[in-house]
Formats: sequence, C-alpha cells, structure tokens
Amino acid sequence: MAGLKSGIVNYGFNRFARSAKPFFADDGCTGCGICAASCPASAITMKNGRPAWAAQCYQCLRCINECPQQAIQYGKRTAGRRRYSIRGYLPQDEQ
Ligand code: SF4
Ligand code: SF4
Repeated sequence: MAGLKSGIVNYGFNRFARSAKPFFADDGCTGCGICAASCPASAITMKNGRPAWAAQCYQCLRCINECPQQAIQYGKRTAGRRRYSIRGYLPQDEQ
C-alpha cells in the first residue's frame, strides 16, 4: 500500500506542483549568479545579468533561501519573510 500511496502523491506533485513560474528576482538582485550555479535541477539560467527560471523545477527552494540578497521571491507571499540556510550553522571554515 505504501508504494501505491507514494505513487499517487508523486504523480500529483509532478503533475501539479512543480511549476517554477512564480519565481522571480526583485530589484535587490545583483546578478551574482549563485542561484543559477547552485540549483540542483539546472532550472535557472542567467540572462542579461538576471536569473530566469525554466518551466518546472524540483521545488527544493534552495535558490530562494541561498540568495545573499534575499532577492528571490515566489509569488506575492515571500517578500520580507525569513530565509533559511544551513550556512549559519556550519563551522566558519565550511561556510
Ligand atoms: S543569487 Fe540572488 S542576487 Fe544572485 S543572481 Fe540570483 S537572485 Fe540575483
Ligand atoms: S527551487 Fe530548487 S530546483 Fe527549483 S529553481 Fe530553486 S534551486 Fe532550482
């Protein structure tokens, strides 16, 4: 049963929840390219110094949390909200 349930959820996620369309970089973007370089799905490319998202991605949210300027938004609800990164918990020489 577990495999069947996972299959159904997996289908729903892949079919309806992988859109990268709501992602955008706001005016705080400096064009550093960290988001594009660190995306595990290679779903971000830099165009004219700005990130551009592919139609779909893994929805891991690494880009939005690792942008040093907190310039990546996902729709209208992420502006001004806290970002989460492991960097603050790593020893200084591993950051
Ligand atoms: S990581 Fe942030 S500042 Fe750097 S290019 Fe991406 S959106 Fe712009
Ligand atoms: S959410 Fe993850 S997979 Fe999607 S664009 Fe951002 S870093 Fe890439």
